[in-house]
Amino acid sequence: MDNLSPEVIVVIAVVVVAVFSFFGRKRQPKERMFKCSRCSAVSAHTPRTIEAWRAGKTKFFCNTCHGQWLRSHPPQAHSDRLAYSGRAGNSGCFGVAVLFILLPALFVTAWWAYA
Ligand SMILES: [Zn+2]
Repeated sequence: MDNLSPEVIVVIAVVVVAVFSFFGRKRQPKERMFKCSRCSAVSAHTPRTIEAWRAGKTKFFCNTCHGQWLRSHPPQAHSDRLAYSGRAGNSGCFGVAVLFILLPALFVTAWWAYA
């Protein structure tokens, strides 16, 4: 795409902003901090606890207790928890979603630019 017109750049920018605002609308807990249900330490919410909050959980565990919990449970018993326990899992999911939305948009804009 060597003849990028301002219109095409605007369309790409709008698509990117739309994608990010779509993902930015995900629900967040009202409080930024939570009290660990195990050791009562006050910690800031992490992507893991926010995910648990969205799933309807009312008890949250700090990273230390969560790590201990993971070590004391066999991996196959909580494979669904492992799926969203790390940043890598979340960003991978996010990347795939962005790709699925961005690719068709890029095809449309490329077609529009050359038509
Ligand atoms: Zn704790």
